[in-house]
Amino acid sequence: MSDAARAKGPKIIAIANQKGGVGKTTTTINFGAALVEEGFKILVVDLDPQGNASTGLGIVPDDRDYTTYELLLEDIDLADVIQKTDTQDLYLIPATIDLSSADMELISNENRSFLLHNALRQKGIDEFGFDYILIDCPPSLSLLTVNAMVAAHSVLVPLQSEFFALEGLSQLMLTIREVRQSANPDLRIEGVVLTMYDARNNLSQQVEADARANLGDLVFNAVIPRNVRVSEAPSYALPVLAYDSNSKGASAYRELAREFLRKNAKIAA
Ligand code: ADP
Ligand code: MG
Repeated sequence: MSDAARAKGPKIIAIANQKGGVGKTTTTINFGAALVEEGFKILVVDLDPQGNASTGLGIVPDDRDYTTYELLLEDIDLADVIQKTDTQDLYLIPATIDLSSADMELISNENRSFLLHNALRQKGIDEFGFDYILIDCPPSLSLLTVNAMVAAHSVLVPLQSEFFALEGLSQLMLTIREVRQSANPDLRIEGVVLTMYDARNNLSQQVEADARANLGDLVFNAVIPRNVRVSEAPSYALPVLAYDSNSKGASAYRELAREFLRKNAKIAA
């Protein structure tokens, strides 16, 4: 990233889709790890009370003293909430089940949509030198996801290559439009990435064709295949890029990161 770009602070990307099990967490971890391989410093914000990104990056619940819950609802220093992971230059703000009550607690807060936005722009964030902040959203269009979209520069949407994949997308797009109108006019759609793609399966091909026909250039050329190594990696608390560097899943996430960087370079130019 050029110095001029970094002077503006890290680019913040929300990884969102209100459907569960579509590959949000997997994409957050592995897209993040792939960007690290390209030389960038990454912060993952776990915004899902299930804490799967935290577990997948090796931060066990006992080590989650300060979490996104405190980041949103209490006055806490970033240095106390940001943790190192075993992957160099990949950092994490963990989550625990505590976060599940945040939605309710946020409702009475005047600033309820801006809490993450403000937390990620507090003084001192620049000292960490992050290039990208990736927010792993919960499987809903709740206030937590809205916080992510208000905080973010763009939204990256994982789309599972299965029947009904496109159905929930209009709701997601509507939420993005509402956030643009109310709080974050510059919010962009970074792109849609097909996940768990099975080239031998007609259905995967159909979903891909539909997605490309309906969403055009928004759909990344890089497609993430269904790959058992990808699903095994979290139980070893590693990105698939570290767990099995030569796997198809690892290669696909590298391709996604490179395509993303090419697209972003074009926009910046
Ligand atoms: P979400 O965060 O959207 O709920 P996850 O990233 O947790 O979805 O993925 C759901 C499940 O699918 C997990 O068990 C994960 O390991 C598995 N999975 C995700 N991507 C792949 C893939 N490319 N190949 C195989 N399994 C995958
Ligand atoms: Mg998840």
